[in-house]
Amino acid sequence: MNRSAPLSLLLATLLAVAPAGSQSLPDLGDASSASLSDSQERTIGNRIMREVRVDPLYVDDPEVAEYISTLGNRLLGGVDGPRRDIDFFVVQDESVNAFALVGGHIGVHTGLFTLTQNESELAGVLAHEIAHIVQRHQARAMHGQRGASLTSLAALAVAILASRGNSGQSGQVTEAAIMGATAFQMQNMIDYTREHEREADRVGLTILERTGFGPRAMASFFERLLRANRLNELKGAPSYLRTHPLTTERIADIQDRVETLPSRLIADTGGYRLVKAKLRAMTGPAPEAAAYFRSLIAERTVLRPKEENYGLALALNRSRDFEGAWKALAPLREVQPPQAAFELLAAQLQADQGHLEEALKIYRAALRLFPQYRGLVYGYLNLQLQMRNPGEVVADLEDRLRNVQDDARLYEIQARAYAALGKQQAQHRAQAEAHFRRGNLAGAVEQLEQAVKLKTGDFYEASIVESRLRDLRAQLEIERAAEKALKIT
Ligand SMILES: [Zn+2]
Repeated sequence: MNRSAPLSLLLATLLAVAPAGSQSLPDLGDASSASLSDSQERTIGNRIMREVRVDPLYVDDPEVAEYISTLGNRLLGGVDGPRRDIDFFVVQDESVNAFALVGGHIGVHTGLFTLTQNESELAGVLAHEIAHIVQRHQARAMHGQRGASLTSLAALAVAILASRGNSGQSGQVTEAAIMGATAFQMQNMIDYTREHEREADRVGLTILERTGFGPRAMASFFERLLRANRLNELKGAPSYLRTHPLTTERIADIQDRVETLPSRLIADTGGYRLVKAKLRAMTGPAPEAAAYFRSLIAERTVLRPKEENYGLALALNRSRDFEGAWKALAPLREVQPPQAAFELLAAQLQADQGHLEEALKIYRAALRLFPQYRGLVYGYLNLQLQMRNPGEVVADLEDRLRNVQDDARLYEIQARAYAALGKQQAQHRAQAEAHFRRGNLAGAVEQLEQAVKLKTGDFYEASIVESRLRDLRAQLEIERAAEKALKIT
């Protein structure tokens, strides 16, 4: 079995029990009646994502995360009706797959990302998934299922979530749950119907057209996928092709539709090329990844250094060949204008070799040019902590957190800086805000309770902590009520 099977399986299972909330859907706890309220849907979605985010296969890289959410949000701009809140993430898994979860979460496997030949192909897959969500296909597919299988699937998902929650260890679904998933879920997996697929293609093409991507890429990617699957060239593609039944007629339909559209040449964004190189550099053994980029560089006809050099530098860094990585990166840093991703890698290479002052210099210069680039911000602040300058970190974050409120990682860094300064109450408060932003309300409340217990004599600080605690306790109660109704406890 592929080493990444547990997460895919978990996601597949959750997908199967994840109705998008619609009229007369069976309640997960009671197959006979009722439907999911919006808050229940959000609760399940947050609960699932809390598990997904701590899984080692979840790609927790600021550059990858920023790119995929920027692309996703651009596509959401092409959706009819009120703005939908959907978030996008990448899973380190070499199989070719993408999926939508309840509550508006779309995941893409690295295997699918790196198989795309241009950005419009990737956009085509995402647009298709977005279409399934906005057309509420999951809910409609659920409705067609027999109640009994729905109940067992719900029970199974709950068991998996519970086992993961209790183990306290990420990435470990119990063997029993996997066996259960195989037995129950493989036969009952909710596949989209051909009707759903046609609709998702149609809506997806409209989204691509409206947001300036090449709709033809959708047909070319699906065609390649189908051909590769026939020739048995792709690992894991069958799971995508099973949930999204793909036929030559479907591809012909897409081609018919795009025939009428003007053909345009769409250039990939720099972000797409760099992130694709980064994901490829992270895949498989590092020496193999380095060899792959070396062969691309050897084949290159244009002499301008590009993302192949970046991929090679990343792969060599993984092998801890810092000198080789530095050499591969150097020509990219000479090109004007400078790029944040290259400066970040340069600073990381210096820091990894213990040249902390040199790394700090690179971070400072780069942040003057790219003050909001998250990879640089995290790298710089962590380096300051490592160099025992927590005061600098607190001062920097005071400014930063006034403008950015949704970044859990900044609060985590802040908590560490306060800890280094011996400011316990502020440390708990920052840690609470980090937990809150990661969807962990119980953890946030616990941190604030600890903060309240510390009698510092600062009444202003104490009243802030107490009022935040009241607010989060109330939210936690609502979440617990929703979980109880769903029997996820
Ligand atoms: Zn589909």
